[in-house]
Amino acid sequence: MKREDATRQLLPTVVPGVREVGAAERQPDGSQIFLTTRWEKLLDAARKNSLWPFPFGTACCAIEFMSVVMSHYDLARFGAEVVRFSPRQSDLLIVAGTVTDKMAPVLVRIYEQMAEPKYVISMGACACTGGFYRAYHVVQGIDEFIPVDVYVPGCPPTPEALLRGVVRLQEMIGSGETQYQRNVAAQKAAASVGE
Ligand code: SF4
Repeated sequence: MKREDATRQLLPTVVPGVREVGAAERQPDGSQIFLTTRWEKLLDAARKNSLWPFPFGTACCAIEFMSVVMSHYDLARFGAEVVRFSPRQSDLLIVAGTVTDKMAPVLVRIYEQMAEPKYVISMGACACTGGFYRAYHVVQGIDEFIPVDVYVPGCPPTPEALLRGVVRLQEMIGSGETQYQRNVAAQKAAASVGE
């Protein structure tokens, strides 16, 4: 077997989704192979597999969120079980429930207090569109106030639907599609044009 083929077989797969990983591995002859990757790719792989959710639960959808964190659905399987109730310690805002106009400034304040990079899942019909509350006092979609990465439909969404939403967000982080990543890319592009 050619040395190149043997080397290819030994490529580490410790970070799924990242093809090139910086690593060193002993060959049978004692030598080492080195693989390179971009720092951002490695960071994204770490971030998407260690999301820390902040549940902004205002109504029934929050009950569904609780079931997702419990043992039956076990959000820990996707690395996102470390729920925090401080925006300063969270990077995933899950809005689960009806948001009234009175609560909107609170939601915006919490979002602004989260450090970047941060992501948002809008869970349920109420958070996504106001749901059946076609009323003057209910926000008709939280994206009127904060950027949303993933919308999870349903009233309430099933636990499986929320899990799918988390996995979709992970896919987006891995491919640079989140609002935060797009903003950073746009800023870099604008800066390069100005140079
Ligand atoms: S979408 Fe349905 S289940 Fe969720 S908060 Fe609104 S009314 Fe409740």
